[in-house]
Amino acid sequence: METHQLFQTKTNSRFKRICVFCGSSPGKNPSYQLAALQLAQQLVERNIDLVYGGGSIGLMGLVSQAVHDGGCHVLGVIPKTLMLRELTGETVGEVRPVSGMHQRKAEMAKQADAFIALPGGYGTLEELLEVITWAQLGIHHKPVGLLNVDGYYNALLSFIDKAVAEGFITPAARNIIVSAQTAQELIFKLEDYKPKHCGVEGW
Ligand code: AMP
Repeated sequence: METHQLFQTKTNSRFKRICVFCGSSPGKNPSYQLAALQLAQQLVERNIDLVYGGGSIGLMGLVSQAVHDGGCHVLGVIPKTLMLRELTGETVGEVRPVSGMHQRKAEMAKQADAFIALPGGYGTLEELLEVITWAQLGIHHKPVGLLNVDGYYNALLSFIDKAVAEGFITPAARNIIVSAQTAQELIFKLEDYKPKHCGVEGW
């Protein structure tokens, strides 16, 4: 079955475009790949475009291909040094080359109305923690969602709770992270999200 046949009626969302951070590997548990496809399905059903790190490898490739097949716009932001096909594979949709990793994150953040992290490794964690830090500082007020597939992020959430208990993260800043086990629940929560922390500057 073609991916676009999975997507039927489209509803409107407060988000025009969401940035997805996720593994450049598919992960060992097939539930991660399924979650990537389900997230794409939820985006398409709400007519939400995608911005991501570009390429066709791992979960990144699954999400981008499915959103593209579902008829929504896909923007891949890739540092020129990673553009070799052996590093990223083919990118579907629009490709925006940038000069480096910092420019990529800034461009992805600028283009998106919200962020969602699927399971991933160092790259995903780094991107996720940066947008959380920027939210904490009031550099942006965009919702940040964590798709906690099969408890993949339980240990990270426990660590963050420990940082709150130990006085390194304020309870208000803890609320920046919106987590859920399914894409549908996560997007509902992100739609409802209102920042409760105090930043130092607006964006
Ligand atoms: P990781 O979680 O370490 O697999 O890194 C994935 C995240 O980092 C993605 O959200 C991308 O933005 C970026 N990234 C890491 N490796 C690549 C790659 N080979 N091609 C494109 N983006 C990558």
